[in-house]
Amino acid sequence: LVLARDVSKTFGSRKALDGVSISVASGEMVALIGPSGSGKSTLLRSITGLQSIDAGAGTIQVFGETVQKDGRVTGSVRKARGKLGMIFQQFNLVGRLSLFSNVMLGALGRLPAWKGLLGAWPQADKDKAMAALHRVGVSDYAAQRANTLSGGQQQRGAIARAIVQGAKAILADEPVASLDPVSARKVMELLVELNRRDGMGVIVTLHQVDYAIRYCDRVIALQGGKIVYDGPSTALDQQRLIEIYGPEFEDAF
Ligand code: ATP
Ligand code: MG
Repeated sequence: LVLARDVSKTFGSRKALDGVSISVASGEMVALIGPSGSGKSTLLRSITGLQSIDAGAGTIQVFGETVQKDGRVTGSVRKARGKLGMIFQQFNLVGRLSLFSNVMLGALGRLPAWKGLLGAWPQADKDKAMAALHRVGVSDYAAQRANTLSGGQQQRGAIARAIVQGAKAILADEPVASLDPVSARKVMELLVELNRRDGMGVIVTLHQVDYAIRYCDRVIALQGGKIVYDGPSTALDQQRLIEIYGPEFEDAF
């Protein structure tokens, strides 16, 4: 899914990423953890090509496409993004559109724009969108405007959109950070199901370390832009995390 070699990203004099190398296979379920400011979002944004990395500092491939090279986001990023469902902490949906329309936007990349503009969606795509909404458990809200949905419903809608898009992987930046524990668990369980049942790769940044351990097979931990742990989640416990991050990290558990 992702092959990043020796990636650095500097903002002014601050190194947000400092020589990061990761290799994630297609069907993996990976959590990115680390304290605030450790570089999690910067790494995800670099992978999705939303931001360039430092010149002369590394390369990033996504599904075999080189998306970052020589300090620039390459033209191949469009191809790579077609295979990626991207989910953020908030603002995943177009607020004034219905949930259904938002999910249909996932199909837009495959359709001539006028069809979408006129609402002339092919029936097969409409069926697919309803099936996806059903699968993630929010089909009852299809007609509701996105900005009137709860946070958890919006996140599940964003996942439905990724399904309709035909995404091969989901990259999610703090998808459950603003949700209550019950909604957060539902979203995490949905990601696990997409991983297990559909073989989707998942890379998810999480603040809650216990979620990373419970739901993900592998954990990559960052600190100050460097990887300080990359391995099975089963080998991570409170003791190990305190060794990595120091005693103040006890609170994160
Ligand atoms: P959080 O858990 O708070 O989301 P994070 O691990 O996602 O943190 P990043 O957002 O990747 O951290 O930020 C890493 C570092 O890079 C921080 O020191 C941050 O201030 C800096 N940074 C990130 N984006 C920018 C930017 N656009 N301009 C300047 N500095 C930035
Ligand atoms: Mg972040």
